[in-house]
Amino acid sequence: MRGLMQDVPLTVDSIFRHAEQHHGDVPIVTNNPGGKVRTTYAEWAMRTRRLGGVLDTLGISADGRVGTFAWNSARHLELYFAAPCTGRVLHTLNVRLFPEQLTYIANHAEDEVVFVDRTVLPLLWPLIDTMTTVRHVVVMDDGGDAEIPDDPRVHDYEALLADAQPVDFGTTDENAAASMCYTSGTTGNPKGVVYSHRSTVLHTMAVVSPNGFGIGVEDVAMPIVPMFHANAWGIAHAAPAAGAAMVFPGAMMQPQALADLIVDEGVTFTAGVPTIFQGALPHLAGRPHRLRKIGCGGSAVPKALSEAYREQVGLPLYQAWGMTETHPVASGGTLSARWADADEATQADRRARQGVPLFGVEARIVEAGTTDPLPWDDTATGELQVRGPWCARDYYSPDAGVELSTEDGWMKTGDVAAMDEAGNIRIADRTKDLIKSGGEWISSVDLENAIMSHPAVAEAAVVAIPHPKWDERPLACVVLKPGEQATEQEILDHITPLVAKWWLPDAVEFIDEVPKTSVGKFSKKDLRTRFAEYPVRS
Ligand code: AMP
Repeated sequence: MRGLMQDVPLTVDSIFRHAEQHHGDVPIVTNNPGGKVRTTYAEWAMRTRRLGGVLDTLGISADGRVGTFAWNSARHLELYFAAPCTGRVLHTLNVRLFPEQLTYIANHAEDEVVFVDRTVLPLLWPLIDTMTTVRHVVVMDDGGDAEIPDDPRVHDYEALLADAQPVDFGTTDENAAASMCYTSGTTGNPKGVVYSHRSTVLHTMAVVSPNGFGIGVEDVAMPIVPMFHANAWGIAHAAPAAGAAMVFPGAMMQPQALADLIVDEGVTFTAGVPTIFQGALPHLAGRPHRLRKIGCGGSAVPKALSEAYREQVGLPLYQAWGMTETHPVASGGTLSARWADADEATQADRRARQGVPLFGVEARIVEAGTTDPLPWDDTATGELQVRGPWCARDYYSPDAGVELSTEDGWMKTGDVAAMDEAGNIRIADRTKDLIKSGGEWISSVDLENAIMSHPAVAEAAVVAIPHPKWDERPLACVVLKPGEQATEQEILDHITPLVAKWWLPDAVEFIDEVPKTSVGKFSKKDLRTRFAEYPVRS
């Protein structure tokens, strides 16, 4: 017997139409260097339909890749929908990548056009001749005085929009590609993840759900996580789907500007990587605000940072785990009712975990290189693998030898994790960041958490340094808070009761700043290179 329900395709158009039809009066604010720009979903929808007309005028092919090189803004949101809703594929380029990576990615994806914010035009324009398939560059004037080249390929966004006719949206194939995003590429070339309309809609439903970010019609949602990094964690789809107001930070990504925007615009939900919230904390602490949930992830959320938010801002950080390959939100750390009565310390420990897979995603841990599941006893650690309708099956035209899926259909994450009896995930490390000392594994994440609970420490990154006897030993790279002092011995004394004795770092290096990747995570690769010749102490 077959079900008798309508087989309506799950397409990005449905999100667009919902916001257009039901939430037209809801405001959208963008913070540009020249001041705030205010619009509504009604105006956004009208402009998005005209932008569809622009893509026709520019002659972008039926499933052509539409590149963006832009901050979070209402215009970027127009592109987020105009491209997929006309059958094209949105391709967000990360403005913080190295030139060679940008060229590689634009050529690999075969971008036909790049829409670029004027504030970052100087980063893109020098590369344009290396991007062999790009025929048009459309400048979105978000302020600043960057020179706009006098070149037939260059167009002005507003001028194109003013001349364009609005188009009807009517994609019907839910499995067609809607957008793509390249991972930062830890090893080898960056890898393209291709999202379908269907995966986007299902991920959106998970993100709006209470166990996800729980975004609703009463929210004012501000994605700090860039729209060029893993779909702004789904917020750019979830907010229109929920009719939530939106606030975009634009190019104004400085901690003070972000904190002011949260306070002044009555933001109720925001999300970003831990380093962002580390920077914003002193600017938010003690100020009146309407925040009810702060999503944090992308790297381990230090317990000390979450607790500092609880104490100084009035709410802890809500930890989510995911990857570009999982759209990205795959698990979230909601405290279930059965923990509500636990003491603060226990609750803080729970919040330091990466959470339970959201409904729709399944997770397992396996012995490396096998498909044998390990027990959920919070002790055994193995590679975390996931499956579900918004997990990638394969990369876009990957290099030889790169395989994302196991033979039995699970996605390999490259993360090492333990799971408790309820399947609540605790990420121990990235496979490549684990430290192997005397044949045993040391978790850099656990050490960092312990070090960051020292009151003088702003940031800590622990990396492996070569050792003749133990193979590898941990080195702690520590950034102190401005005006604070601490010695190596004080740091080691502080963490001695918190970790196994043989885990204690061989040395503590005080550095000015932890180098960051293009998406704001600690770049341990850079630290490993910098300290590769570190003198052996014991
Ligand atoms: P990306 O594709 O850039 O979003 O990076 C995905 C990787 O970030 C994951 O494989 C994890 O290693 C890391 N990551 C994401 N969220 C978390 C989290 N909450 N805790 C620890 N690591 C995380």
